[in-house]
Amino acid sequence: MQDSQSSQQLSQAIAIASPLPRKSRQARVAWRNNVVTVGGDAPVRVQSMTNTDTVDAVETAIQVRQLAQAGSEMVRITVNTPEAAAAVPYIREQLDRMGEYVPLVGDFHYNGHRLLTDYPDCAQALSKYRINPGNVGKGDKKDKQFGQMIEIAAKYDKAVRIGVNWGSLDQEIMAELMDQNSKRAQPWETRQVMYEALITSAISSAELARNIGLNPDNIILSCKVSGVQDLISVYRELARRCDYALHLGLTEAGMGTKGTVASTAALSVLLQEGIGDTIRVSLTPQPGEARTQEVVVASEILQALGLRVFVPSVTACPGCGRTTSTTFQELAKRIDDFLRGEMPVWRTQFPGVEAMKVAVMGCIVNGPGESKHADIGISLPGNGEAPAAPVFIDGEKALTLRGEHIAEEFQALVLEYVQRRYAQKA
Ligand code: SF4
Repeated sequence: MQDSQSSQQLSQAIAIASPLPRKSRQARVAWRNNVVTVGGDAPVRVQSMTNTDTVDAVETAIQVRQLAQAGSEMVRITVNTPEAAAAVPYIREQLDRMGEYVPLVGDFHYNGHRLLTDYPDCAQALSKYRINPGNVGKGDKKDKQFGQMIEIAAKYDKAVRIGVNWGSLDQEIMAELMDQNSKRAQPWETRQVMYEALITSAISSAELARNIGLNPDNIILSCKVSGVQDLISVYRELARRCDYALHLGLTEAGMGTKGTVASTAALSVLLQEGIGDTIRVSLTPQPGEARTQEVVVASEILQALGLRVFVPSVTACPGCGRTTSTTFQELAKRIDDFLRGEMPVWRTQFPGVEAMKVAVMGCIVNGPGESKHADIGISLPGNGEAPAAPVFIDGEKALTLRGEHIAEEFQALVLEYVQRRYAQKA
């Protein structure tokens, strides 16, 4: 019995898990020569949003640049007042002067039709407009004001994200669907009606935009909710019903660990199913936390799923009773910070470096083995071990570090490795 089981296991290799292919249309979001493709076979893109006052063009340009340097491929800014709309071309100008061509996305609610009409320089400086169909006006004005924005997008050939949000869901659609639901023999749960209202709002707005003349390839849809299972339910159905590129994200994900874990849980399930072409992690920054943290989390999700590589990865063990000092934790953090800090420059100087693997391990139990699997790794001495730290390069033991300056010396070895292995050949 045991023999037949093992031969059965050997006759069929274990399937390698990988995300399903995405099948959406491909949109283009561009500024000058920086063309960011979204959807189809393009990589899943990382987006972020500033939290500066857009009227402060300098502060906003600085934060946009920080987000872009952290890996955000598009950055959204609030455009909520005439002053903010007037500042947009200056923000764009500042960024261009810095050589930062990341596309800017304008976030419009309530008065977008007026701002885009009255400030044509703003309309042109933006690469994409985010329009929330729940916040474009009521009654007769709704389609008219939505249409005004779409006409401007079509005129300047801009991409549009029709971004529905359950916090500002079109109440007319919701009321109509609730009414229909009450007549069902077996009414749906209220949240199932809400799912339907979100999807109906997004898809009917996209159809209206196409009828007005917007190229369907310029349309990206999103239906954001704040619950993990709700997001999965809505996007599975949205992806089934349309082929537009989809932007994913939990709205109001929350702070710190909660926001990070909830976003990771929701986005991972959908991305694995081939759903989602751009993502944003809407983290509430903790006091003193950098806005770029949301970009770090978004890129880590894509990197962990094997969809993208952004920064070299550091494999570090959790530590245990064999490591009672914090030496290896400090070294792991130091190397991680060093790699992230260098990436904006390395990205252009050392192509391919983002796929590098570095190991920082706490003791001899798994240290040498894990270090050999990395491109470069170090195994620090655990309690009771001789005070020596072997360094492994490309799977071979290369040297042993000792003494007070192991951290500095290992960092220098990592830099040397990067320069040697990833330097562009002339
Ligand atoms: S590698 Fe050593 S220190 Fe790290 S968790 Fe394993 S046993 Fe503990």
